Amino acid sequence: MNILESHFARWKKQGYRMTKNRSALLELFLSEAHPLSAEEIQKKLKRKRVTADPSTLYRELDFLVQEAVIQEVKLQPKKRFFELSFKKHHHHLVCLRCEAIDEVEMDNELEVLEKKIQRKRNFQIQSHVLEFFGLCASCSK
Ligand SMILES: [Zn+2]
Ligand SMILES: [Zn+2]
Repeated sequence: MNILESHFARWKKQGYRMTKNRSALLELFLSEAHPLSAEEIQKKLKRKRVTADPSTLYRELDFLVQEAVIQEVKLQPKKRFFELSFKKHHHHLVCLRCEAIDEVEMDNELEVLEKKIQRKRNFQIQSHVLEFFGLCASCSK
């Protein structure tokens, strides 16, 4: 059983229904390889002919965050971004011009740095957040 299926099984037991909105949202997150803003999610749902008013959408997103299926990523002060929470740990490359978001894994390098900081500052690091902002390949041409 994969992680999603185990969530479904638990929801069923708890009496949560797999609504049209909920399954469309999960499908969307599974098919996208980068974080989605709430606005983007709404547009994509509309294209799939699933209609959700903003308050329903936010309620559903909050539910999935609470169930640890998705997590919020802080990439911009004014927009909320979400992505699946069980992806391999990674960081984001955010283009400031076209708003494209790419993902990058770099934890061998960071592990070395963490160990150094831990030793120097006598601080037990448990997690970190690191995102990169700049211009993507096509925007910096
Ligand atoms: Zn760009
Ligand atoms: Zn990391």
